[in-house]
Amino acid sequence: MQKIKKNTSILYFTYLQIAILALFIFVTAFTLSRLSDVQKTLSYLTVDTVPTVINGAKVSQEVEHLVFLTMSLSNATSQPTRRIITQQLDDVFKKLSATARYQEIDTSFLSTQLVVLAKELEELESLVDRRLKIEESLEQNITDFFAYAHELHLLSTKDSEKSQVTEILLLAVHIEQQHRIHQLRDTEQQLKTAFETLERLNLDQDIKERFSTLYTMLIGNTGIINQKIEALRVKGRTIGRGNFVKNLVNDMANNLNLNARSTYRQLQRDAQVTEARISDQTRIALIAGAVTVLLTLCMIYVLHRRIVYRLIRLNNQIDKATNTNIEPIDVEGSDEITKLANTFSVYLRRVKEQEVELVNMSLTDPLTGIPNRRAYDQKIRAEIASASRQNWPMSLLLIDIDFFKKYNDYYGHSEGDTCLISVANSLINNVKRETDLCARYGGEEFVFVLSNTNSEGAKIKAERIRNAIQSLRIEHKENAPYDVVTISIGVATYAFSQEKVKSLDGLIDNADQALYKAKAMGRNRSVHIDD
Ligand code: GH3
Ligand code: MG
Ligand code: MG
Repeated sequence: MQKIKKNTSILYFTYLQIAILALFIFVTAFTLSRLSDVQKTLSYLTVDTVPTVINGAKVSQEVEHLVFLTMSLSNATSQPTRRIITQQLDDVFKKLSATARYQEIDTSFLSTQLVVLAKELEELESLVDRRLKIEESLEQNITDFFAYAHELHLLSTKDSEKSQVTEILLLAVHIEQQHRIHQLRDTEQQLKTAFETLERLNLDQDIKERFSTLYTMLIGNTGIINQKIEALRVKGRTIGRGNFVKNLVNDMANNLNLNARSTYRQLQRDAQVTEARISDQTRIALIAGAVTVLLTLCMIYVLHRRIVYRLIRLNNQIDKATNTNIEPIDVEGSDEITKLANTFSVYLRRVKEQEVELVNMSLTDPLTGIPNRRAYDQKIRAEIASASRQNWPMSLLLIDIDFFKKYNDYYGHSEGDTCLISVANSLINNVKRETDLCARYGGEEFVFVLSNTNSEGAKIKAERIRNAIQSLRIEHKENAPYDVVTISIGVATYAFSQEKVKSLDGLIDNADQALYKAKAMGRNRSVHIDD
């Protein structure tokens, strides 16, 4: 039997199925994991990046507003304006603080900046407040001064007094127009000179005191010049502080812009990386999908070509082999199906052999090994049919051993059997034509069917057979006068034809009668009866 290889079709088929299943699981898991990646990226975009960028834009808008308000505060010309701007600054601060709290990434940066900025703005506001108060007080003092000086001018009687008042007034007018401290110091010096000149004049006590008051109003510690100088100093500090705050705010705005831009760039980079990754992964998923389809097609091909097709072929061959004598079941390959086919072949051959054996057994006489009565029955029917078709004559020889009962009695049953076997062998050796048949008819009787043989032929054949048995020279003391085993033969011949239908019984009866005659005539002879 052919040796079956280990790697066989059904195993291949199973491996292929497992591979397809594994690929399918891989593609599904891969696609799901890619989907979750895309989901993460989208959520990063929508929850983190986009709000960060939008907030960045909002914050920088608020910061710009802050710059504007800071400058407005620095230049505020009245307390109401200062209060309004302060209020607006508060609002902007609240908004920025809220955004800073929301924008977690930049909380520390923006919040710290806002704390510093708030302190700076507080100081700026207090400086502005101080500047406005000084300016208000200065304005009041200047008004008071000019009113007082005008009064003094009216009270002055002397021309020298009047001209000094006029000079002082002119210098005082200068003060209003001057915006530099050294100019004010010069004017202060000139005023002092003017007042010294006044002291040298012989003035009334009342006028003197009035001039002294005027001096205090202008040059005293809280006088207009010092106030003006203080106002200029505070204004300068306010502008300085305002610029500082403005720069601080601008820095913050720049930082925020940078931050927003870098977030935006990061977003672009992330989007590009994600896009590249997704496209790579899509390619991998497509390849895996294509491989799965290919493997599935391979599986279908293998299933059909190596299994289904061959099983159908095997089935057809088994069908054919069962119903006919055509053997071998031939399925190419070296796998389980081939093994199955070989096994079928072996069993079928065995069944056929047993069938033949059985048929042979059923048609063979167990003692002598020559055809039995059943074989004779089959043969005689077939012969009559064929002889009737062909218009052939047919002869039948009924052979009976002479005094065989006596032989048994004399030599014993076992010797009788041996004698039967010898006679049978001799008879079978006398079957010369393939179409003839010799069979054991029963007991010590034999029959010869001679196909296509007329009475002459049958007579000759009967004599030959009879002589052949006598020639065996099997001792038979009870068969006088021959003392050897002899046979008597009843010969019958029928000329069969299609028109003239004859029965088998008639032929046998004739042969029987002929045999009876032969026995009656003294045995060891053949007697022929024609129809
Ligand atoms: P006849 O010449 O008239 O034929 O005499 P016969 O003794 O041969 O005739 P009969 O029919 O009286 O006897 C047949 C005998 O053949 C009877 C039986 O003992 C014997 N016989 C039949 N079959 C067998 C067999 O298988 N073996 C043996 N040993 N003897 C058998
Ligand atoms: Mg007999
Ligand atoms: Mg006999």
